[in-house]
Amino acid sequence: MASNRIVSTWRTYRSVGIVYRIGIAFVLGSLLGLAVGETATVLQPIGDLFVRLLTMLIVPIVVFTLLMGVRQLTPSTLGKLGGQVVALYAVTSAVAVAVGLAVSNAIQPGSRGLESLLAEAEPQSAEAPSATEVVLNIVPTNPLGAMAEGSVLPTIFFVVVFGLALALVQEETDDPAISSGIETFFDLAEAGAEAMFKVVWGVMEFGVLGVFALMASVFGAAGVDAIVPFALLIVTMLVAAVVHIGVVYLGGFVVGILGQSPFSFLSGAREAMVTALSIRSSSGTLPVTMSDADENLGVAERVYGFTLPLGATINMDGTAMYQGVAAIFAANVVGVNLTLADQFAVVSVAVLASIGTAGVPGSGLIMLTLVLTQLGLPLEIVGVVAGVDPILDRIRTMVNVTGDLAVTTAVAKWNGAVDFTTGVWSDGVRSSLAD
Ligand code: ASP
Repeated sequence: MASNRIVSTWRTYRSVGIVYRIGIAFVLGSLLGLAVGETATVLQPIGDLFVRLLTMLIVPIVVFTLLMGVRQLTPSTLGKLGGQVVALYAVTSAVAVAVGLAVSNAIQPGSRGLESLLAEAEPQSAEAPSATEVVLNIVPTNPLGAMAEGSVLPTIFFVVVFGLALALVQEETDDPAISSGIETFFDLAEAGAEAMFKVVWGVMEFGVLGVFALMASVFGAAGVDAIVPFALLIVTMLVAAVVHIGVVYLGGFVVGILGQSPFSFLSGAREAMVTALSIRSSSGTLPVTMSDADENLGVAERVYGFTLPLGATINMDGTAMYQGVAAIFAANVVGVNLTLADQFAVVSVAVLASIGTAGVPGSGLIMLTLVLTQLGLPLEIVGVVAGVDPILDRIRTMVNVTGDLAVTTAVAKWNGAVDFTTGVWSDGVRSSLAD
């Protein structure tokens, strides 16, 4: 009797889409944290477990999907795809900084008596890697080492080179053993990717608990008092994020380029967006982003297998936007006005900083030191906003992964690699394994 009840409760629970369950966990966890305070941080390990499970999937999912994608690419189509995607990633990041600057110029988020905080904060600094270093680091000295360390760019580089070589050898060889060996390689990659996507959804089931725990500990540690002075900054970032997602991604990309409904796109991207909000890491969210592209948005792996890992590493619109917002915030706190020339400088530094920012929690905050240095503003500002960064970072990361998916879907359309008869595009019917 009791066991029947348990089974039927479990079924009812599972019948609710995973993203709604995670959303509810997000809200309930936040409320619990605010209600009980510091004590809620005991839940942190459960949240950490969720993040570890997702992180565990990054390298295998990138290697498998990239390999199976490269099977269908020639060096010239790969070059064309790469050019398109890098150009769009850079343009959308520059627009994001402009949106961040415009919204915060309108709101002036730091103009309310925050000067006292400045006196207490420690100056922060970070070294930007040089351009030569960034380019050299794309090539791994040891491919297995790069994979073992979870370094995405060198892994992409090696897998693309290896995959293209396999495809070329297959074209040229008359040896059936080599040819069937190569087929097996590609088939293994295909099977491995499918298996990894299965695991993603299993991990997302656990994510309901994980997100509850993460949010409870964030708000438990921060508390309302720490957040209130920064409410305007949080609101500014939220408004900028909504404007950028609404105008650029939904208006420009989904309606303008894809000719599709914005609601379908949001429905297809929602697991990735909620995961990014919860774990503050575009790299950690990558397995979910890839599975959304595959199962919901109907994008072919030959495109997303390449563009999404690349996007999680170099495309950070939310992070770029934050540099613009924070620059105005810092100028407000100090009581100076940024000239138009200053603001142009912010755009270029912020785009470069966002490219160089790793898709991990809080890295955008460290990059802020570059923008502040450029503007000659006090580096203590980084210390001032660090307390609320766990909240701002969520908004940034959500914009980051949404941008990756919007650009990926657009580039996929240009290359005939998106199927608008499946997933969320066909009458809003979702093919997600989770539902
Ligand atoms: N947490 C962000 C990300 O992973 C980077 C940042 O701190 O802005 O996308």
